[in-house]
Amino acid sequence: MLYFDNASTTKISKHALAVYNKASEDFFNPSGLYKAGSDIKNKIDNVRKEMLTILKGSTKSTLIFTSCATESNNTVLHSCITRKDKRYIFSQGEHSSVYQTAKKYQEQGYDVIFIPLLTNGAIDENILLNEITPNTAFVSIIHVSNETGAINDIKSLSTKIKAKNPNILIHSDGVQAVGKVDIDLESMKVDFYSISAHKINGPKGMAALYIASPNKFQPFLHGGGQESNLRAGTENVPAILSFMEALKDIEKHDFSLYKQAFVNNLSGDFLLVSDNSCVDNIISVCFKGIRGETIQHMLEDEGYIIGTGSACNSKATENRVLKNIVPKSYLSGALRISFGNYISIQDCKNLALTISKLVEQYLKRTKR
Ligand code: PLP
Repeated sequence: MLYFDNASTTKISKHALAVYNKASEDFFNPSGLYKAGSDIKNKIDNVRKEMLTILKGSTKSTLIFTSCATESNNTVLHSCITRKDKRYIFSQGEHSSVYQTAKKYQEQGYDVIFIPLLTNGAIDENILLNEITPNTAFVSIIHVSNETGAINDIKSLSTKIKAKNPNILIHSDGVQAVGKVDIDLESMKVDFYSISAHKINGPKGMAALYIASPNKFQPFLHGGGQESNLRAGTENVPAILSFMEALKDIEKHDFSLYKQAFVNNLSGDFLLVSDNSCVDNIISVCFKGIRGETIQHMLEDEGYIIGTGSACNSKATENRVLKNIVPKSYLSGALRISFGNYISIQDCKNLALTISKLVEQYLKRTKR
């Protein structure tokens, strides 16, 4: 099977897996006051420092390890959405773990608004900036869209937002950005940033949350005081060490020729949602007259695994993000192709030719 759903998850690398397995043998509790415990605690703190260096966090910042980016995102919203007399702003393109949490607060009477998207899935900057007022408390903007690969220029947006109101706390979900675009958290002026290990060939169930100023953060999990009282729960040591390896191992793979090979070999009546300004590893394309799931199942029989949109949305009847930017006639035919390791440019070309052939045959068969 050729795997083209890397935005959903990636295969753990041999290196990250080896580190995971070895660390699992070293089972001591990092909170233990004996040497074996404190040695492990030191390893975790070294990973924290090293990650902050790689991501270029500010000097006062910290990073906590969480069970998934869904937890990181939920944690930020619970920490920041506190008052009903303040406004909280989100892009329509947020991942469900941000969007659904924000919706819950909206249903409870908090002043939550969602900013529309441009046709490639990036936030509409003009509308966003018009909504920034002295009453705005919090803004969350996804860095790279998990649906279309659109890049939001967080540094530029944060600078403009903070110029209008320096008290606003800014969160960005960087899960799809790590290894795909440059990350410099201090110059991006974000207060919070979420990342996840399993999107970068690391282990599942491991993620982190960057916190620029710990004194502006309220923990979500209370308990044993781990992570300097910022996130209770016994640390998942093997996954933390393995996450570090995955982050260090990231090679900035240039997928532009893969994208070209795929797009240039597609034919039929389709709408390419991901334009040239999007990251090259995620392609959202919608076909007319056929359901995305139908194409997905036919492709499986031909040896290809692809997505029809974010896996977290796969149970929804229509794609929540794409429905804002794609005409209705193309919406149900959405596919999400995402490149990763272990595929070649020729595989991308063959995938496009196979999709085009299958759609053409299907439309001929079903023509009334
Ligand atoms: N944010 C984005 C942009 C994602 O793509 C995902 C995963 O699909 C998540 C958050 C959730 O990550 P996790 O699976 O670690 O909870």
